[in-house]
Amino acid sequence: MESKVHRPRVVIVTVPCPGHIIPSTQLAKYLLSMSIDVCCYSTGINYPTVENQLEEKFGDVRIRFRPLITNSEFVSPGKELTDNVSWMQGPSDGEMAVRLEEIVRNLTPPPVCIISDLLAGWSQDVADKFRIPRHVLYTMPASALLFSFACFPSLISPQVAPEHPPGTWNSMVVTTHAFYDYMMRNARRLQEASFILVNTFEDLEGRFLDLMRSEVIGKPNVQVQKILSIGPLIRSSNIEMVSAHSKPSAREEHESFAEVMHWLDAREQSSVLYVSFGSLLTVTETQIHELAHGLEICGRPFLWVYRVPNTPQILPADASTEDSLSEGLPPGFLERIQGRGKLIRGWAPQEKILAHKSVGAFMSHCGWNSSLEALWSGKPLVAWPLAVEQRLTARYFADMQLAVEVRKNDDSIVESAEVVQAISLLMEEREETGIHSKFDRMQELAHMAVDDGGSSRSNLQVLIDSIKNQPNPLT
Ligand code: UDP
Repeated sequence: MESKVHRPRVVIVTVPCPGHIIPSTQLAKYLLSMSIDVCCYSTGINYPTVENQLEEKFGDVRIRFRPLITNSEFVSPGKELTDNVSWMQGPSDGEMAVRLEEIVRNLTPPPVCIISDLLAGWSQDVADKFRIPRHVLYTMPASALLFSFACFPSLISPQVAPEHPPGTWNSMVVTTHAFYDYMMRNARRLQEASFILVNTFEDLEGRFLDLMRSEVIGKPNVQVQKILSIGPLIRSSNIEMVSAHSKPSAREEHESFAEVMHWLDAREQSSVLYVSFGSLLTVTETQIHELAHGLEICGRPFLWVYRVPNTPQILPADASTEDSLSEGLPPGFLERIQGRGKLIRGWAPQEKILAHKSVGAFMSHCGWNSSLEALWSGKPLVAWPLAVEQRLTARYFADMQLAVEVRKNDDSIVESAEVVQAISLLMEEREETGIHSKFDRMQELAHMAVDDGGSSRSNLQVLIDSIKNQPNPLT
């Protein structure tokens, strides 16, 4: 067997959100399967409640993102985690860089490159210090990457990157000042990266990728050599290459999930609507009532990953919560939907639910991972974007006839009648919309991308070759 000493090592850094940790973990598994060692870190708190759901194994190796700062340092007395920025990172960019630098200096063997999230732009300083490349793992769609570059007109002029849909850019950048500053300073550092690895595939977003390849690469001050699509990097795509010596172990089943699976087993094929708005965001109580009412009158079986309205956006779904299941729901709702609808509080086994034959469609906030998982498992979307780049994805999928997008009223509420109409368009008028045949084709293309000879598989090989040929300046 190959000696571990000769394996190149890579440091992976991400932010502590499931939507970033999950694709980073899939990339880590792939690198391990190609005889590359990985050391994984996250910028902030790891959540005990979902941590065991995010941890994976490859052979005997546990893939766990160790926080660069401890929880007690993060939640210092008197400091409240009131905004996304302090929650995702905590200390300043400079302090984060010092911590990673210490780690890198003490690693034996030292890493040949750093692969880090868009939101760890400061890691470029560490890479520069050790004269190794930083590659970015971009966990959002290529359309959002295009927007990140278009922040800087010297790279892409607004004429070349038209807004899609109108108003999206404002909604992406005009949140809090701290968040705007956080996004911009990280976007700026994209230009210094060596490769940008995008969790997407050519047949889905080739037009955005090609535009960036032709407009950005080679511009003055842009170091980027390649923009590589390497997705779908999702749990069910099993991107890792399994060799005779190292078999990836299955992730452990959570007991409470068995009940959900039995419930699905008892439903008719393609009859169930799966409803989930991801791991972080919640909606208002008024919106919950409209959605509940719509689900009630649409008459279909549904499985809803329910999060109490207006809970702080800074915590992912907490499986250990003791709150009663009915909190925030219309009175009597649970009784009325008994036998037809099921609610899950906390973490749901999403990729298993989407793979189940009883699930016919997915009402989603269009988080990028959820959108790729829907494509992978062939479950068309009722697109209900809540924030930032989700609007881009929802509109793009609707334009590509991969989704039905819900319409909001003047108060930004999706009314119950709209909920019913969108579900019926997707699930009852299957043939008329054309969505199912388009979706089936895109599902096929997603699988082909990561198969042998596929575009993402070939791009991953480009990354592997570069890692294996990278001289290590520290040795
Ligand atoms: N997820 C899950 N169970 C949950 C909630 C989320 O498995 O109850 C996973 C989901 O499958 C996806 C990720 O967490 O892989 C969420 O990422 P996404 O980009 O869809 O949305 P975000 O949570 O970042 O808004």
